[in-house]
Amino acid sequence: MDSFTFTQPTTVDQAIQAAAKSATAQQGAQIRFIAGGTTLVDLMKLNIERPHEIVDINILPLDRVEPSPDGGLIIGALARNSDVAHHPIVLRDYPVLSQALLSGASPQLRNMATTGGNLLQRTRCVYFRDTAHACNKREPGTGCSAIGGHNRMLAILGTSKDCIATNPSDQNVALTALEATIQIQGPHGKRSIPIHDFYLVPGSTPNRENVLEPGEIITSVTLPPPIAGANFTYLKLRDRAAYEFALASAAIVMQVSGGKIQHIRVALGA
Ligand SMILES: Cc1cc2nc3c(=O)[nH]c(=O)nc-3n(C[C@H](O)[C@H](O)[C@H](O)COP(=O)(O)OP(=O)(O)OC[C@H]3O[C@@H](n4cnc5c(N)ncnc54)[C@H](O)[C@@H]3O)c2cc1C
Ligand code: SF4
Repeated sequence: MDSFTFTQPTTVDQAIQAAAKSATAQQGAQIRFIAGGTTLVDLMKLNIERPHEIVDINILPLDRVEPSPDGGLIIGALARNSDVAHHPIVLRDYPVLSQALLSGASPQLRNMATTGGNLLQRTRCVYFRDTAHACNKREPGTGCSAIGGHNRMLAILGTSKDCIATNPSDQNVALTALEATIQIQGPHGKRSIPIHDFYLVPGSTPNRENVLEPGEIITSVTLPPPIAGANFTYLKLRDRAAYEFALASAAIVMQVSGGKIQHIRVALGA
């Protein structure tokens, strides 16, 4: 692991200013926020992420889970995955999110992992995580070792000739079925991005995974008001029953009345 400087801003604006000096917010970022650290520290130990500066955002006031004025829910970017999974409003109105979160990782990891960090967790493609192999996502233009390699956990849909990686998150599949919006603050103000516009398909630039620009911080995720009488389920298929990423997953939100489906939204993951 390279040496780096460590800063601990006390306001969101200070955090934004610190990170805005980075040339990119994507792969190879020179400055990185750290939340729970369960993705970033792993990748730094593997020399996949080599930031010169780490901006610790843990003391920022972004950890609340509270109702929004329109009847929906605001989940702070620093709300821990366990706190969200066990929150009474999530259990009552958005249980698919709780199911998805509790299917992921381990209790210890969920106690550290945050909503924002989970959104930005990186692919589990083994070649991305091993600098001995070619990987267009890690080093653009070097090739993709997974195409023709060990790829049974990688994508079938939304691939390109340059990358077949997946976003391995369980949370994000549920948030997509729930039509979440990502709230972002940055050097040029605030943006609200629907989750289906937040991520980029790999195309010829798999090193760019989302719409974030330097200095932009996720402040919260907002959910629309719950759909009355809806049924929810999260299905995760994996090689073992616990502590394993999905081979395939689906989050489903469906409302039926009068014998007809009135609303259905299905999100597929892994
Ligand atoms: C052994 C293991 C098993 C796992 N199993 C699963 C699983 O089964 N299912 C699953 O879904 N996940 C799993 N995970 C992944 C885990 O859910 C993520 O590591 C975690 O959610 C990341 O959150 P964090 O707060 O620790 O992020 P961090 O490591 O702190 O940050 C991750 C990235 O997000 C950026 N970031 C963090 N917060 C913000 C913010 N507010 N604004 C902008 N950028 C930000 C950081 O700069 C960094 O690039 C597993 C992880 C491990 C280590
Ligand atoms: S699938 Fe994507 S992440 Fe994996 S080796 Fe290919 S380019 Fe890299």
